[in-house]
Amino acid sequence: MKNRPRIITVANQKGGVGKTTTAINLATALAAIGERVLIVDIDPQGNASTGLGIDRQDRSVSSYDVLTGAMGIVEAALPTAVPGLSIVPSTLDLLGVEMEIAGAPDRVVRLRNALREDKGVPYSYVLIDCPPSLNLLTLNSMAAADSVLVPLQCEFFALEGLSQLLQTVDQVRRTINPNLAIQGIVLTMFDGRNNLANQVVEDVRAHMGDKVYETVIPRNVRVSEAPSYGKPAILYDLKCSGSQAYLQLASEVIRRERRLRAA
Ligand code: ADP
Ligand code: MG
Repeated sequence: MKNRPRIITVANQKGGVGKTTTAINLATALAAIGERVLIVDIDPQGNASTGLGIDRQDRSVSSYDVLTGAMGIVEAALPTAVPGLSIVPSTLDLLGVEMEIAGAPDRVVRLRNALREDKGVPYSYVLIDCPPSLNLLTLNSMAAADSVLVPLQCEFFALEGLSQLLQTVDQVRRTINPNLAIQGIVLTMFDGRNNLANQVVEDVRAHMGDKVYETVIPRNVRVSEAPSYGKPAILYDLKCSGSQAYLQLASEVIRRERRLRAA
């Protein structure tokens, strides 16, 4: 197929674990090295859209239009202030989409079909920012993706819920997307002064082995400030520890993508 991008979905059914922050900054890092990147925001909250400076009133097109089949993915993409990075924004319309498409036989492959437009899509990477749920939207992302990237927050219950997520990945593999891989698990919001956080990192590595990226994203106030300026942390403050960690994560992701593509 022409111009087939690598598609990575950023998923975890828990909220507030760093999905959107990871999608935005990983996408920015990939764009910075010359990749043509698209974020598809499928969270009705639209945090990725806001965090990339797309105001609500400017979202005349959205992932809702793509999922309902009203619009192709390329048509629905808007440029961002980051060169090489576009976004299909989300709107609150997405809250109703599950009910609207629930009866359609192709309900789980809507996004996948949109990303495989016959004329090809002009991106080398597509990152999907999921809602905090294992709902039909997240299933659409897993059906469409080559791999799943899972952010885990460094807190006591980090591993809780991961098995349910991995079971969902297995279920998608068995049914609609046999080649779906785990890109990796990224530990986020790490605070080295906190003994518990260190313990969590050890536990997650012990359980998940080399699925876990070497890069750990530190808790960093600059990272949390950036979205209110409508900017990725990497543009807001390139030198901060969070931005540097996301750049490092991007190089790990690229290395793994090369391996997955060759497999
Ligand atoms: P999710 O998309 O999984 O709900 P977010 O990426 O929106 O999670 O992150 C949840 C909150 O934590 C946001 O306010 C975000 O700015 C903040 N945050 C995310 N990563 C970091 C970090 N590394 N350091 C500090 N704050 C962070
Ligand atoms: Mg989010």
